[in-house]
Amino acid sequence: MASQSSILCSCGHRITRQAVLQQGYVMMRWRPVFVYLQYHCPRCNTTAERLIDYDKWDPAMLETDEERRNAGEGQPATRITVVEIAEFSRRLQRITHRDFEALRCE
Ligand SMILES: [Zn+2]
Repeated sequence: MASQSSILCSCGHRITRQAVLQQGYVMMRWRPVFVYLQYHCPRCNTTAERLIDYDKWDPAMLETDEERRNAGEGQPATRITVVEIAEFSRRLQRITHRDFEALRCE
């Protein structure tokens, strides 16, 4: 998360959130291995795709210069990761009637 690296178009333009057309994850079982980005570069007018190692992915890569300047003001201390979301979803699928009974007793 600490790395503030950037995603560059082949023309050298830095890709920000505004240029992203589609974003997704390439999953292996329930773990993300790549972040998929499709973007339209405003400088060279090209639409391209990029796969980024999930381990190297940081949403801050897509921040504009202004967002980077403002970083730290009103930002959440930690971000919810896609691994946490996947784990939560997995647990939700396993909820049984007994879990609801347990909630009622508390
Ligand atoms: Zn470009």
